[in-house]
Amino acid sequence: MLNAGWLIDGTGGPVRKNISLVTENGLIVSITNSGAGDTAAQVTTDFSSSTILPCLVDSHVHLCMSGTGDPVAREKQLGAGFDEIKGLISKHIKRHLSYGILAVRDGGDRYAHALRYRNEYLDIKKMPIGIRVAGRAWHRAGRYGGLIGRPPQKNHSLAEAVKTDPEEKDHIKIVNSGLNSLKEFGKETLPQFGVEELSDVVKIALKCGRRVMVHANGKKPVAVALEAGCDSIEHGFFMGAENLKIMAEKGIVWVPTACTMKAYAEHMKPGSIEHEVSRMNLDHQLEQISKARELGVTVALGTDAGSIGVHHGSAVMDELKLLITAGYSLPEVIRCASCNGSRLLGIEDSGIISKGMAATFLAVKGDPSKLPGSLSAIQAIYINGKSASDEFKWN
Ligand SMILES: [Zn+2]
Repeated sequence: MLNAGWLIDGTGGPVRKNISLVTENGLIVSITNSGAGDTAAQVTTDFSSSTILPCLVDSHVHLCMSGTGDPVAREKQLGAGFDEIKGLISKHIKRHLSYGILAVRDGGDRYAHALRYRNEYLDIKKMPIGIRVAGRAWHRAGRYGGLIGRPPQKNHSLAEAVKTDPEEKDHIKIVNSGLNSLKEFGKETLPQFGVEELSDVVKIALKCGRRVMVHANGKKPVAVALEAGCDSIEHGFFMGAENLKIMAEKGIVWVPTACTMKAYAEHMKPGSIEHEVSRMNLDHQLEQISKARELGVTVALGTDAGSIGVHHGSAVMDELKLLITAGYSLPEVIRCASCNGSRLLGIEDSGIISKGMAATFLAVKGDPSKLPGSLSAIQAIYINGKSASDEFKWN
């Protein structure tokens, strides 16, 4: 039996105080209020001064890139071969684990290194993490996306390219807009693909059991992706309230990656136009997140780790703080970072601490008011009922 001072269960419901949790064969068999009847002998693990919560998911990362702002180092990472990059990917995964992140969804890289790493190099015993990869993303020739993917071959439609793609990826990543301008607030780019082109991809994805994640900023690029029936919108800056309403109705997930703009604002020279526009972009995104909460849009936490100033692992704390600033309660943001992320990744048996679920969770010191900061010093991680701290050095 394990005692905990506080429990955040991942459903978004209120924090529970003083609970006892019993596990058997890797599953949670009961969660009750700690009673005076619990004897010291029954309590094998005492977390009465700690909070337990589900393991976290970062629903948008780029494992091949670090958050370095040094242009020479970034260029080197972008051009690196697999042998050079595999050590960096391992380092990033360890960083995620040290912040209690046990699953990540990769948004693509130029040479599909993250895919190869997942297939050939990941030792799941040493690094018990769920990695879902996009391989190389798809973008239209001549438009943004070369850093994380490739366009369809000449004379091939997007659907033909996706259909004949031999990469054994987990999901399909489509780039359907440009990046956010850091010079002109709210500048919109045109969609890269039309509704029909994207619908064809969604049909192929359905047949092969894959989901479609779409990078889209601005009203039109997002509207096109929603009409085509994609599974998630990544970034979604300046998408507007109408698109948010459609997402709430259709159950399409939003991964807002607001911390990218906070990181840009911190990276850019104070007083520069880029600094100002990044800050304005961030404020606007927080307003959109607030609206999304009001409308009941499913938000999954994703950081875009690997973007400038967005560091693997620690960025999750930044994004949690931003969602709280936008109006989410602590249990609600934990749901975005656990249950909602797990479902988006197709890992249905985790993300919630309740009877019958896998006994996989984190313990952090102190009461919930210490979160998200207390994630920087995880006290323990349990995987299927067993403390994983012995198998893996978290810090
Ligand atoms: Zn990304």
